[in-house]
Amino acid sequence: MILKGKRAIVTGSNSGIGLGVAEELAKAGASVIINSFTDREEDHALAARIAADHGVEVRYIAADMSKGEDCRALVEKAGGCDILVNNAGIQHVAPVEEFPVDKWNAIIAINLSSAFHTSAAALPGMRAKGWGRIVNIASAHGLTASPFKSAYVAAKHGVVGFSKTVALETAGAGITCNAVCPGYVLTPLVEAQIPDQMKVHNMDRETVIKQVMLQRQPSGQFATVEQLGGTVVFLCSPAADQITGTAISVDGGWTAL
Ligand code: NAD
Repeated sequence: MILKGKRAIVTGSNSGIGLGVAEELAKAGASVIINSFTDREEDHALAARIAADHGVEVRYIAADMSKGEDCRALVEKAGGCDILVNNAGIQHVAPVEEFPVDKWNAIIAINLSSAFHTSAAALPGMRAKGWGRIVNIASAHGLTASPFKSAYVAAKHGVVGFSKTVALETAGAGITCNAVCPGYVLTPLVEAQIPDQMKVHNMDRETVIKQVMLQRQPSGQFATVEQLGGTVVFLCSPAADQITGTAISVDGGWTAL
């Protein structure tokens, strides 16, 4: 229970990587605030289920990470936090000339600017305690690019740069800030794309996974949400006290190519 007594906020955590991170933090003893913009009964039920499974306090707080004031209100409603995991993110795929302006703005707001707003709101409390951990879930696309993902790649590169700046501003204050860069992770979002890809390429599930989805991931394997959660827990552990301003790849070798 290395994180007993710590309060963590994980943005965008009612599904996928955020949920995996919230579960691993709860397993390590942290009390956790899970978030999405949806505010459904099942979101609150999810918080109750994680609390019961791990014997820690878990609360659901609705906030729309596309809105700066909601991001700051999330931190305020939580009563501040010791651990902030900026995970909420969306994707849209289109050539630059056809990229819808509203999609560009939404991706920059949710994937990048939200981390600025939540960090700005959380840092005063962390400084007062002399301890804090900010972990920004970036992507292999924070370090390398793919065509048709201009907004996503720009936002994720921005997240890596933002993490370095926060790390420098907080160095020596007991606070660390790092980016985690996943390759492909089999989340519900990615899982939902497999049937379409099977149809488009006329391939079976295994062939789509190996030859289409994991083509750039040398391990040929997805990273898991548990591995992402474990990486975040490690970054919150004493072993990582001097790890700050880094971008840690969990990508099966993608960015080594
Ligand atoms: P997901 O769709 O399963 O989860 C996204 C989460 O963000 C959900 O909980 C959703 O409710 C939340 N969200 C979306 N818009 C929001 C908003 N406006 N306000 C609040 N919450 C909002 O996707 P995922 O695959 O788990 O992705 C999580 C993060 O990991 C994203 O930042 C994504 O870019 C990053 N990532 C994912 C992969 C992958 O292969 N799955 C790879 C690299 C990086």
